[in-house]
Amino acid sequence: MITYIDGKYVDDADATVSVRSKALNYGLGCFGGVRGYLGDDGQQVHVFRLDAHIKRLRDAANVLYLKLPEDSASILLEVLKRNEIHQDIYLRPLLIHNSTQLTPVLLEDDTSFIVYALPLQRYIDKDAIDVCISSWRRVRDNAIPSRLKPTGGYLNSALARREAKNNGYDEAIFLTESGMVSEGSAEHIFIVRDGVLYSPPSTEDNLDGITRRSLITLVTEDLGLPFQERGIGRTELYFADEVFLVGTGAQVTPVNSVDRRLIGGGGIGPITARVQKHYLDVCRGRVEHRMSWLTPVW
Ligand code: PMP
Repeated sequence: MITYIDGKYVDDADATVSVRSKALNYGLGCFGGVRGYLGDDGQQVHVFRLDAHIKRLRDAANVLYLKLPEDSASILLEVLKRNEIHQDIYLRPLLIHNSTQLTPVLLEDDTSFIVYALPLQRYIDKDAIDVCISSWRRVRDNAIPSRLKPTGGYLNSALARREAKNNGYDEAIFLTESGMVSEGSAEHIFIVRDGVLYSPPSTEDNLDGITRRSLITLVTEDLGLPFQERGIGRTELYFADEVFLVGTGAQVTPVNSVDRRLIGGGGIGPITARVQKHYLDVCRGRVEHRMSWLTPVW
């Protein structure tokens, strides 16, 4: 496939960095994850919330002393065009500190900007997943900024995910250092109790999530469901009526059990099913008044 790197569109094989790159040695950088959805006409691809993704990447770049090109949104679209994409697709914009100096310093002029595409149907290949509470705590925003998407911070996610898999679970839920529910390894969490949806704020050391924010708008404005943003305690997960994880990759993924406690009757709950359907309808361009969230590629 064609990948963008520092002003050039090249074959994947030619988009390389040095083994000495600080990005590789120290995990210095940040990234985004954006989805394009094939429309019902089988031709058009709708990029979901491109502006919000670019804004988050710009905020991350500012915090981490990286330079995001002014025309980054058009570069993302150009990567899709050059690859003649007419299918569901995932885009990965990546900003890295790409100097080969030994010390882990952050200098804007060392920035490399990379964008690659990846055909992607399902990120989680199950209808409802079994999750555990991780023994790893979520990295604090005040240590490695978890509100952004810092490359090095994903060691935290990878450890939790590996532990979950080792123990026979599909995914891990992080608690914060103070024991509140934070997020999954790459997803935010919502619970339903007595018909009300709850999700913890990003001050619980989780990513400033675009799917999460979009869903809050969709459930309150379009579906008319009550929602409250507030801290969630561990045991609340065990007796919630429904639990689901959300994210660009995960979309809306129902949780079957938490630490082997079955949620509701197991499987997908009725509110989760409504939220999931509406979200995917919006992504595929079937909801007229949400078309402003989509950027057409063609
Ligand atoms: N949390 C983490 C740690 C993630 O990596 C992701 C994936 N980007 C999410 C949550 C979901 O965020 P978003 O909806 O912005 O993709």
